[in-house]
Amino acid sequence: MSWLNSSIAALMHVSPKWFFRPFAKSYVAGESIDSALEVVRKLNEKGFSATMDILGEFVETKDEAENILNAYSTLIQQIAQENLDSTISVKLTHLGLGLDPNLGKKNILKLAQTGKENNVGVTIDMENSPYTSTTFALYKKALSIHNGMGAVIQAYLHRSLEDIQELNSPLLNLRICKGIYRESPDIAIQDRNAINDNYVEMARAIFNGTGYACLATHDLGLLDRLESLIENENISPQRFEFQVLYGVPMGDRLERLKAMGYKVRVYVPFGEAWFEYAIRRLKENPTIISYVIKNMFRK
Ligand SMILES: Cc1cc2nc3c(=O)[nH]c(=O)nc-3n(C[C@H](O)[C@H](O)[C@H](O)COP(=O)(O)OP(=O)(O)OC[C@H]3O[C@@H](n4cnc5c(N)ncnc54)[C@H](O)[C@@H]3O)c2cc1C
Repeated sequence: MSWLNSSIAALMHVSPKWFFRPFAKSYVAGESIDSALEVVRKLNEKGFSATMDILGEFVETKDEAENILNAYSTLIQQIAQENLDSTISVKLTHLGLGLDPNLGKKNILKLAQTGKENNVGVTIDMENSPYTSTTFALYKKALSIHNGMGAVIQAYLHRSLEDIQELNSPLLNLRICKGIYRESPDIAIQDRNAINDNYVEMARAIFNGTGYACLATHDLGLLDRLESLIENENISPQRFEFQVLYGVPMGDRLERLKAMGYKVRVYVPFGEAWFEYAIRRLKENPTIISYVIKNMFRK
């Protein structure tokens, strides 16, 4: 499948945007705040929590970063006004970190303040490895402003178990995901089974500490292992939640998790930058193409 994945990813650059709209539609909650809020209302009605993400990353000007900061601030206020069960998820390069580290810092600290004033959680997504240490450092600074800050840790990174020890605190809210970027073997585990093993060890490490774990995965085998860990170690549902991306088919698994009394949060991306985002993701990890195709046929 890999030659097909790469060929489709390459084709995206020369194909018209409208051609890919149907692909993106299942995974993106529209282009506007209103369409995304509507998706979140419906998820909340069904008993799911949400986290909302404005698509995009790597802004090129200070003004662009300012616009994204304002858009997120408005989003936080709307979530609070409607009393929705949703946090926000944000990438630091979208707030200007790649342009100027001080700009990224200033903007995330402002967002932490807005999150605190409106009592809305703010999770900092994790990007590729040049940003890992800075992201954790800024997460810690932001946590001193707003208790509702969250961070993300990638199970494929060799450093992650150590990072968990370092980050441990009663306020720690840490999403574990496998990691979406391509990283070299000296930085990241390449074997899929070994990544899953590390994922389970990382969940165990958070449970052995004092923090809260957000278990983000669609991998049903991994979910089985995490559920066993939770049952065997008798972990309280107050210590964790499950997270998935909007639109990824999960059969009846999410309903089952909810029925067991577990919290399930859906990551809801939206915004005009869906196309650029899709291209970047596909270039970084063309195997996603096979998920999309598989899921289209499954539907
Ligand atoms: C809530 C959430 C937040 C995330 N935040 C980050 C982050 O901040 N930084 C980061 O590096 N990564 C993030 N990721 C992505 C993550 O690192 C993985 O790349 C992605 O979730 C795929 O891994 P998996 O655990 O689902 O397992 P996999 O083994 O990769 O996938 C299992 C199955 O899930 C389905 N699937 C997985 N992903 C998709 C998809 N995108 N579209 C359609 N079907 C899919 C496929 O059917 C696949 O067979 C996040 C993931 C989730 C769920």
